[in-house]
Amino acid sequence: MIHFVGAGPGAPDLITLRGAQLLRQADCIVYAGSLVDPRHLEGAKAGCEIHNSAAMTLDEVIAVLERVHRSGGLVVRLHTGDPSIYGAIREQMDRLSQAGIPFDVCPGVSSFCGAAAALKAEYTLPGVSQSVIITRRAGRTPVPERERIASLAAHGAAMVVFLSAGMTKALQQELLEGYAADSPAAIVYKASWPQEKVLRCTVGTLAQTAAAHEVSNHALILVGGFLGEDYELSRLYDPAFTTAFRQGTEA
Ligand code: SAH
Repeated sequence: MIHFVGAGPGAPDLITLRGAQLLRQADCIVYAGSLVDPRHLEGAKAGCEIHNSAAMTLDEVIAVLERVHRSGGLVVRLHTGDPSIYGAIREQMDRLSQAGIPFDVCPGVSSFCGAAAALKAEYTLPGVSQSVIITRRAGRTPVPERERIASLAAHGAAMVVFLSAGMTKALQQELLEGYAADSPAAIVYKASWPQEKVLRCTVGTLAQTAAAHEVSNHALILVGGFLGEDYELSRLYDPAFTTAFRQGTEA
């Protein structure tokens, strides 16, 4: 059996209980070494076979998963954050399906949630934005034309930009096509790691802030009014508002 497991944003205690248990039971762990904190491997059982997928191809990863599974072993394929976000798991799952190998997925805390926690922010503020756009700039992996940062920025929604901390100059230019230069922004480097940095800035000072703090990888760029001061109170906890669980003061 193969278990795809989300490791969470970094801190070893931000993995799920299920994920931690699977790691302790694993006969083999294949982890995404460029982003997964190696402290996650400390609880592995004696004799557990460990591979860092950062130096492997898809074929090599699948060969390990298949070999250990065929010999009756339990394999954890450990991805950073939640595996469904830029995890490249679909291609692995399809190969396993083709080979008739059973697998499941254990979700994790994505770094975009870890970054909001570091900022003590709420993405979905009433009266500000009720949508979160998760995206990236095109790098060596292309992004469909219709998802250009500039056109997404036109929504003015909360935006989280992955995989783009090394391109903040171009990113800033594109964001400025939708957000005002004084719109609040933030850079969160290694959320939940001991080296975490939380840098608040504006869209207009994004590139300068990244450069000043020497952040060029392993960081998220967050943009939108949710990082500002103004918002409306929720209906949910409004004393006047009636819900299925509470009678409000309003008729
Ligand atoms: N599946 C992961 C994302 C993998 S893509 C998740 O759900 O978080 C890798 C990118 O995620 C990095 O380039 C960076 O932009 C972001 N990232 C991952 N962990 C992070 C962390 N702890 N702090 C800030 N950004 C992080």
